[in-house]
Amino acid sequence: MAVRNLSTPQGPVVQPRTALQLIDTLPTSLVAALMRHAHRRSKADRQRETWLIYFGDVRIGTIGLRAGVPNSAPQWGWSCGFYPGIDPGEHRSGIAETFDQARADFLAAWEELAGTRTEADFEAWRRERDWTTWKDQMHDLALPLPTQRPEGIARCFCGEVTTRTLDAHVRTAHRLTAA
Ligand SMILES: [Zn+2]
Repeated sequence: MAVRNLSTPQGPVVQPRTALQLIDTLPTSLVAALMRHAHRRSKADRQRETWLIYFGDVRIGTIGLRAGVPNSAPQWGWSCGFYPGIDPGEHRSGIAETFDQARADFLAAWEELAGTRTEADFEAWRRERDWTTWKDQMHDLALPLPTQRPEGIARCFCGEVTTRTLDAHVRTAHRLTAA
């Protein structure tokens, strides 16, 4: 999956697939086969043709090829918003003929949404991200959470004993650094 930070002004946008980039270096006999392969894969890969858009370290939306739409329909879709931090009812989305149009629409929507945000909204998203990541790690290690213990105490994978104040522990000890 591709990650692109739209706040960095860089040219265009849709990167050619690696497979297609290789074509120039391959013997001609292989090119046709590879083209067919690339073509056959393209539909299945549509879900993966998605750009994740970050504002700083906060993921604020996506732009991607729409899956399962006829060729005559707009091929690109975008969505803008993050949760928690922006009420789902305020999230925006749309469709567009081209990636550049989708990006322009996205940025217009983001400018409006961003204008009504405070740092606390971004922080709410980061805390949720950190909490979810931590909880998943505990789960993967089959470690109980304090809330799953009768005495309300459990040990974190870092070795520290956590109690019901574990929200503070995650915030101080397991804060993820910016991407
Ligand atoms: Zn810990």
